[in-house]
Amino acid sequence: MNGGNADEDLDRVEVLISALEHFSYCPRQCGLIHLEQTFDENIYTIRGQLAHERVDAGEVELTAGIRVERAIPLWSDRLGLRGKADVVEFRVDGPYPIEYKVGPPRGKHADAQLCAQALCLEEMLSVSVPRGAIFHIATRRRREVEFTESLRARTTGLIEATRRMLVTQVLPPPVNDARCSHCSLAESCLPDVVADRRRLEQADGQAFELAAEESVTS
Ligand code: SF4
Repeated sequence: MNGGNADEDLDRVEVLISALEHFSYCPRQCGLIHLEQTFDENIYTIRGQLAHERVDAGEVELTAGIRVERAIPLWSDRLGLRGKADVVEFRVDGPYPIEYKVGPPRGKHADAQLCAQALCLEEMLSVSVPRGAIFHIATRRRREVEFTESLRARTTGLIEATRRMLVTQVLPPPVNDARCSHCSLAESCLPDVVADRRRLEQADGQAFELAAEESVTS
């Protein structure tokens, strides 16, 4: 990848569907996981692994006349996406993907991941997928998500931004805000330290520019 034509790399590099939720939440979190393979466990990630192992059993069952398939491989050649759906219900009006979540609700971040699953199903099966759901394991409740034009556009934008990060291999800067207190990677990321260093570098740069201007005008 390195040293090649950047435009060719942008066409070729595949993006994992799961990376989109990370990038949406915090681009640096996505970089730490997908560029640097950093993974810190917390209670949510451990519960999540256990929940996904149960979902990953690969079973097919009939529930109230609906065929339900688990751990379905997904891809989109058009968008350069690969991943998996936790559950897909095959309803009379088409496939209905369901993503299982363990931690606190992440709203629009999880919605983009689910929407990417829908985009893959549409390409793979040549059908329309207008809706899906996030299933929150703690509350055992589903939240339905409609795949609107704006959510689809946001999702494709995230795919492009994630791919650009993978191609350039540049770790994004920390967001250093309230998101960090819920982030399992905070100890590896050190957002305060990195943000302070960036501020110092910027201050150094400004001081250098000032000194250079003064030497020219004196
Ligand atoms: S600690 Fe903050 S800046 Fe670092 S990866 Fe997590 S959310 Fe992003």
